[in-house]
Amino acid sequence: MGLISSMAKKERHFRVEIEEALCKGCLICVYACNKLGGGVLRRSERRTLLGGLYPTLAGECIGCRWCERLCPDLCISVEEE
Ligand code: SF4
Ligand code: SF4
Repeated sequence: MGLISSMAKKERHFRVEIEEALCKGCLICVYACNKLGGGVLRRSERRTLLGGLYPTLAGECIGCRWCERLCPDLCISVEEE
């Protein structure tokens, strides 16, 4: 097995953290994840202080970071584990 095939098999895992105290619930991150990313961020049923809905992760993040880039309030951080 060569180096390239070994690298291709390496699984990568990403941790997504959402700072809920800063989140207003606009769901731009959910839209970004579903249109541009891995489609794993979902709308939760829990309301933010401003009446929006918190995002929640429902699957394995692929680490594209669109949610992190597009959150207007810088609530999201994506780190490789
Ligand atoms: S984009 Fe940011 S502020 Fe909007 S719901 Fe997502 S985490 Fe919250
Ligand atoms: S990094 Fe990409 S796949 Fe992961 S939650 Fe954010 S938008 Fe979705």
